[in-house]
Amino acid sequence: MENGLCPGAERGSEFVVDPGSLQDPSKRRFLNAAGMLMAGLMLPRARAAQGPGVPAGSGHKVVVVVVGGVRRDETFSPDGAVNIPHLSTDLLPQSLFYRHARNEGVTAHFNAISSILTGTWQRVDDWGKLAPTSPTLFEQFRKGLHVDRSDTWVVASNKALTSLIGASSDTNFGPAYGANVVFPKQLMLMAVVEALRQGRTANMADRSKVEVELESAMEGSNYEGLGWNVFDGSDQLDPRVRGTIQNAIASFVQSGGPTSGDELTFFMTREIMRKFTPQLLVVAFSDVEAAHFGSYALHTSGIKTADRLTFQMWQEIEANPDYRGKTTMVVLPEFGRDPDGSSTNGFFNHRANSESTRDTWMMALGAGVDKPQTIERPIRHIDLCPTLASLLGCPPLDAQGRRLEEIRG
Ligand SMILES: [Zn+2]
Repeated sequence: MENGLCPGAERGSEFVVDPGSLQDPSKRRFLNAAGMLMAGLMLPRARAAQGPGVPAGSGHKVVVVVVGGVRRDETFSPDGAVNIPHLSTDLLPQSLFYRHARNEGVTAHFNAISSILTGTWQRVDDWGKLAPTSPTLFEQFRKGLHVDRSDTWVVASNKALTSLIGASSDTNFGPAYGANVVFPKQLMLMAVVEALRQGRTANMADRSKVEVELESAMEGSNYEGLGWNVFDGSDQLDPRVRGTIQNAIASFVQSGGPTSGDELTFFMTREIMRKFTPQLLVVAFSDVEAAHFGSYALHTSGIKTADRLTFQMWQEIEANPDYRGKTTMVVLPEFGRDPDGSSTNGFFNHRANSESTRDTWMMALGAGVDKPQTIERPIRHIDLCPTLASLLGCPPLDAQGRRLEEIRG
């Protein structure tokens, strides 16, 4: 199979990476607006009136940023530092940095993130057709502490994920205790597909009609149809955001050009933080997976985008009074990528059983970090879930992973 273990990489390239998006304020306004539009769509009106509830458990908030496959060579290495100026310069000095965080399981997207979120190596379907078999952190948190679904979210650019990432098949837990899962990029792609299907391609070619198509896709489709799993409630757009987004989209349509999926994911995430203030939030960036197209320049551009957006996530945490001082943010890649000269085409893929593919890093920031330091002792991806469960105040569960003593509330 052409794209190996990255089933999402073969389509949607128009939304993968846009190195120029930062410089074009109209595109950023559009993506910001689209994020607001979608978050507004998901906001049940009753909850909007009530505001956030009382935090459950320890009151500690957790934000996990998972980046797709990136090698040490392109990140935390003398040659790679240029791709991660924010991580290596702005964040590293205040972080707890694990130099070796190992993926010892399946180096495919769904299994990798499932392992991180369950604390047990998962070997389910690479394409996300089967849920993880062990309870996710979301389920542990929600069932253990009677937490509302609106306190647990996954926002992902990664098309190799599905809504099944939000809950396991464990009969003692399962979807009743799962997270909200949203794929902002998928929503934009759906708007295009819907327009094609209905013979309105001229509308998509004429960018002045993008706004109409995007809104039509959102208002005409229920969440399940979009592959989302969000609440049970209203499918009406919150009218308070409509004017703002229409203005921003009107600006965008003058500019044209592709947009970055991760950028949209970031804006969507920020809106969710501002509207729902979830206690447990997982963000998956995947512009780096442009590597599957064989473009090293697009891959490193994706790394730079993830670096910048991760820093912006931290800035949002620091600026938002609902998060500042009580949040731990953790950043880690899903895995590395194959070594140069390998039979699997080097950076294109992440299939090799090699150190380049398995040995990555992990950074923790914020309330769960006593003092900035670098830990040389190797840790495993499955150690993160029990660590975060403890931070959140969840009752302990059996898992393969072991709690990391350096991260504590
Ligand atoms: Zn991939």
